[in-house]
Amino acid sequence: MDNLKQQVDRRRTFAIISHPDAGKTTITEQLLLQGGAIRKAGTVKAKKSGNFATSDWMEIEKQRGISVTSSVLQFDYDGKHVNILDTPGHEDFSEDTYRTLMAVDAAVMVIDSAKGIEPQTKKLFKVVKQRGIPIFTFINKLDRDGREPLDLITELEELLNIEGYPMNWPIGMGKGLRGLYDIGEHHIELYRPEEGQDRFLKLDSDGELEGNHPLKEESIYQQTMEDVSLLLEAGNQFDEEKVLAGQQTPVFFGSALTNFGVESFLNQFLQYAPAPESSEVNDGEKTIAASDETFSGFVFKIQANMNPAHRDRIAFVRIKSGEFHKGMDITLARTGQKIRLNNATEFMSSEREQVETSVAGDIVGLYDTGNFQIGDSIYSGKAKIEYPKLPEFTPELFMQVTSKNVMKQKSFHKGMKQLVQEGAVQLYRNYQTNEYILGAVGQLQFEVFSYRMKNEYNSEVVMTPIGSRTARWIKPEQLDPSMSSSRNLLVKDRFDQPLFLFENDFAMRWFHDKYPDVELEAGFNEK
Ligand code: GDP
Repeated sequence: MDNLKQQVDRRRTFAIISHPDAGKTTITEQLLLQGGAIRKAGTVKAKKSGNFATSDWMEIEKQRGISVTSSVLQFDYDGKHVNILDTPGHEDFSEDTYRTLMAVDAAVMVIDSAKGIEPQTKKLFKVVKQRGIPIFTFINKLDRDGREPLDLITELEELLNIEGYPMNWPIGMGKGLRGLYDIGEHHIELYRPEEGQDRFLKLDSDGELEGNHPLKEESIYQQTMEDVSLLLEAGNQFDEEKVLAGQQTPVFFGSALTNFGVESFLNQFLQYAPAPESSEVNDGEKTIAASDETFSGFVFKIQANMNPAHRDRIAFVRIKSGEFHKGMDITLARTGQKIRLNNATEFMSSEREQVETSVAGDIVGLYDTGNFQIGDSIYSGKAKIEYPKLPEFTPELFMQVTSKNVMKQKSFHKGMKQLVQEGAVQLYRNYQTNEYILGAVGQLQFEVFSYRMKNEYNSEVVMTPIGSRTARWIKPEQLDPSMSSSRNLLVKDRFDQPLFLFENDFAMRWFHDKYPDVELEAGFNEK
């Protein structure tokens, strides 16, 4: 058995961010195939479309054939232990999606070559960028006609403000796709090699195809050679430090569906993506190495009632240091409470299985009877280890909520309190009237909330949409309730901090012009 440091150094923990339909599921599946974690293409896909009988997770998930909360996929490849944290998208986009990004060491951004950067990609990108972790870009669907490669890279710089460095360059696209000129790996990958032909062709020291391959005679090859030499001379220089700081993104072109460019992508991604690193804890007073003997980690997600029969909750912990083992004693930093962990689950696709040990970089799911809250730190040993608080994400959708049955206020308040604590939705109150307002980043969060209120707390709720709003916090000392209007609703968050919910950007600008001294602060995801 490797020692702890060797085991930790093998870990690569990342998330894939993308807009729906860019190909996240397809590439995830190809990566799992490369790692031998699944044997058949279509497995992950089938889960997504709901044909895969797996978890007994709540009805709502079954009805819609989607996964309400993120799961973890893992496989071993080339000596590395890879953890992919699934980030729900589509209609199931929620704060969990953002929080999952707080638990990874790198991100892969998948972009559809015909569409470029789409809204959801941009939202997720912002969160990853704020964290300063490495971002790798996979520009997908090269087998179809898409936009010019250079145009796509320029868009990264203009829309996302990140330098792009092409690790490979397409030789043609769509029907004319011939291959990939792989700058990083120093070879050409043929799109459709002929029978008996090698898929990877070596380059000579001038960067030209070795020997006299017929491809060399084609104008598309010559064009690519010109583009590449221009790129290498005039484009950005590859800078590993910038990559690690999230200031430069290595860009890979490919086609996930035809498994083209995926293997080289994986090889290079694993080469440059970081292993778990040391972290600052206790308000920056202490640094703890990922390979420290002391176990520590934080809860980034709580999934309730995976099995309705048991009413269990699972707290997902990102291990930040040391090794986890069954039966260990830990302390909950927030309360100082000591807890014995005797029931661990690790995740392989959606199957839950018992595990013995996991180390920094891995995710463990802990059965929870109500001890944990999102953002909680846990640690072994005597000295307190507390990770920074998870940031507040600004919801975009708001609903006013009341209890349908006035006689059932008690269960309404109880359910509300617990679900908010769990992070299922954000709770605000109208500053003047104290009415409850819920905030979410995706519509499904409201549906899950209302479903769970009914099923777990026997409380039917009435929700009145307020619609989409731009939330901005203000300093309490700058607050004057007369600033509030229907276009900028004044509310307070669960810590009693005041914020405005602006009807739109126009209303926000209008407010800003009227009260230029009032500072408006955005949530982590909108900074
Ligand atoms: P997700 O919503 O991001 O998970 O996207 P999916 O992986 O489900 O892909 C969306 C659609 O695009 C599906 O029909 C895929 O078969 C298709 N797709 C994914 N990758 C490629 C690709 O490389 N080329 C082509 N032509 N289609 C692709």
